[in-house]
Amino acid sequence: MSCKYSFIVPIYNEEETLPELYRRLQAVMEQMDGTVELILINDGSRDRSLAIMRDLHDQDPRVCYISLARNFGHQTAVTAGLNFSRGQVVVILDADLQDPPELIPSMVEQWKQGFDVVYAQRTQRHRESWFKRLTAYGFYRILKQLADVDIPTETGDFCLLDRQAVDVLNAMPERNRYIRGLRSWIGFRQTAVLFERDPRYAGTVKYTFRKSLALATNGLVSFSTVPLRLSTYLGFFSAVMALTMAFVVIYWRLFHPASPITGHAIVAAAVFFLGAVQLFSIGILGEYIGRIYEEVKNRPLYTLSEIAGFKALHSTRTY
Ligand code: UDP
Ligand code: MG
Repeated sequence: MSCKYSFIVPIYNEEETLPELYRRLQAVMEQMDGTVELILINDGSRDRSLAIMRDLHDQDPRVCYISLARNFGHQTAVTAGLNFSRGQVVVILDADLQDPPELIPSMVEQWKQGFDVVYAQRTQRHRESWFKRLTAYGFYRILKQLADVDIPTETGDFCLLDRQAVDVLNAMPERNRYIRGLRSWIGFRQTAVLFERDPRYAGTVKYTFRKSLALATNGLVSFSTVPLRLSTYLGFFSAVMALTMAFVVIYWRLFHPASPITGHAIVAAAVFFLGAVQLFSIGILGEYIGRIYEEVKNRPLYTLSEIAGFKALHSTRTY
């Protein structure tokens, strides 16, 4: 092991935040009681991010970078960083300075107390839209109810991991990686460090609504099979409705033969309702089957176009 700490930062079109990120991280790196490597992962940026990363690497040998061959998404970028990290302690943080680097020393403090996983928990989110806050709030509570593991609320990917935990995560073969879920799933001694989440330093949010929705679905499907059971419940509910309706019809036929039940509307409604239940259930099945398909294809998680700063260490490894 050549260094004590690895800092992992996924980068997607962050030319505006990179210099400030480096400035603040550098100040933290100076304070650390051991050697630090800063691993920047370029997740297929289309701006000058990669050029800036090259410059940083030339200036400062502690900066290494990996460039993925296209945009693979945040979770995959972090996974690539974990694969390449060499430190005894690994810290994952966002590039937009919403995860304050100055929190790292207190996370390390917890690690020294014997914790293997130290995750940062938000007490407050500054200036994020009400829509984002509301959906995040709702989602994390649903996930908590449904998931098999206890995934703490108000946590993101900002965390510190001991080498042991990183090795376990790296050994997990699954393709759809919901890192904050996997992190809880692996166990070990875990603790939280509280912080206030600042607004993004510069640039625009890279997690579009679509990407956030995909991440949320992934979290739910990867850590719970309850949605699959939902179709059973819905089927049961429809059966009860159908039976009740049958009794009502028989009752009217027997006791009120003069007033026949006419109601195309109710029939149409019932047909639509059942159609909806069936399509909904097939959709849920599809989410799971799609993921099985992804796993079975067994493609590599990402492809690399450029790496720097890892010397011979990784040249024999294939991804
Ligand atoms: N990011 C990435 N690939 C993507 C989207 C985002 O590597 O496809 C990175 C981005 O550069 C940032 C982090 O993931 O470092 C979090 O993104 P962002 O701040 O836009 O999302 P937030 O979590 O704040 O909504
Ligand atoms: Mg952000």
